[in-house]
Amino acid sequence: MSIETKKTNEDNILLATLGMIKQAVDLSELSTEVYDHLRTPMRFVEVAIPVEMDDGSVSVFTGYRCQHNNVFGPFKGGLRYHPNVTTDSVKALSILMTLKCSLVNIPFGGAKGAVVCDVPRMSMKEKERMTRSYVKTLGSIIGPETDIPAPDVFTDAQVMAWIADEYSTIMREPSFGVVTGKPLAVGGCVGRNEATGRGCFFVAREAAKSLKIPLRTARVAIQGFGNVGSSAAKMFAEEGSPVIAVSDINGGVYNEKGLNIKKLREYVEQTGFIKGFPGGEAITNNELLSMDCDILVPAALENQLTGSNAGDVKAKLVVEAANSPTTPEADHILKEKNILVVPDILANSGGVTVSYFEWVQNNYGFRWDLATVNSRLEEKMTEAFNMVYSFYCESCVGSDMRTGAYMYSIQRLAEAMMYRGWLRNGISRK
Ligand code: GLU
Repeated sequence: MSIETKKTNEDNILLATLGMIKQAVDLSELSTEVYDHLRTPMRFVEVAIPVEMDDGSVSVFTGYRCQHNNVFGPFKGGLRYHPNVTTDSVKALSILMTLKCSLVNIPFGGAKGAVVCDVPRMSMKEKERMTRSYVKTLGSIIGPETDIPAPDVFTDAQVMAWIADEYSTIMREPSFGVVTGKPLAVGGCVGRNEATGRGCFFVAREAAKSLKIPLRTARVAIQGFGNVGSSAAKMFAEEGSPVIAVSDINGGVYNEKGLNIKKLREYVEQTGFIKGFPGGEAITNNELLSMDCDILVPAALENQLTGSNAGDVKAKLVVEAANSPTTPEADHILKEKNILVVPDILANSGGVTVSYFEWVQNNYGFRWDLATVNSRLEEKMTEAFNMVYSFYCESCVGSDMRTGAYMYSIQRLAEAMMYRGWLRNGISRK
């Protein structure tokens, strides 16, 4: 096998995800029909999205919506704007959503959408026209009871508001429950913006407890300082844990005594980047991943911990705030090094959990306050961590926590499939 082919395979998160599902189905001795249901999305749509650009020309972007599985309820998952999105990555990310919703026990299936585009190079107006064009093209397959998009990489509350508006125009009635992660003024939920980072912190806190790492003195390194990474950093800093390093796409900053996260967030707000922040020394992204720390939080994109750098990881605990940041090769190396990896489908499920709270409030016309949202999130995340961690300790001896989380999640999905009559030969392998 050439080096290039090997790299492609290591980077293919669909192959990695399907490999994990197959293993979890086999270890759980579930019917092979369970794997057959989970390996292929129920619907995958690829569309052309014409957009009038500011100079009057028309650019045609490629858009996707992958509806993976809806055994528990409406499809649910983010909409991502990124130049490197592929059909395989959208499929894999939609599968992760199915597994995530099952794990935290919320009545949604999994989906993911994307548009292949370079948003930082587009104007707000172009972004708005592209979002509205996406809804015009795919409006018939989304809806509050069918498929509910949410923010993801390079999409935010404003993008969700455009979707809600365009969809409501198509439906000729206000129908804001079609998306979650909206601004508060149009039916958003308090705390949704920080929910993924907050949820990730709760999970890290529980994991640290299990490993007997005192959180107050735990040195934390965070890769990625977007919505998720910066919210997680804020939570750790508020707890008193020294956040010694953070990075973004252009590099990072390190301070052995702990960075001033409040000042750093203000700095990034003004400049757009971490680079040049006066409160620490400059470091590279790779230096961040191999930093001498207790807790490492990859909160950027896929495939950051790989066969080539996992051997250098010094943290005792890795908490995956991003989706699929660790390749199977890296997983293997981290396990050999006895580093606990709290998998993405658990660690970053706080976002979709508060999306669920938003959807419930939209459906019933409720308005919960921040204390209610945060305490319900804390309860959900703590419970999910403890269920999965004890399942992993009891049933996955010699394996890793990702395997435990996949098994736990898939067993729940299989039970629902069985009751709905999707498994002709029963739930167990004969
Ligand atoms: N994009 C987020 C995720 O990957 C949130 C999805 C949602 O809230 O539906 O989990």
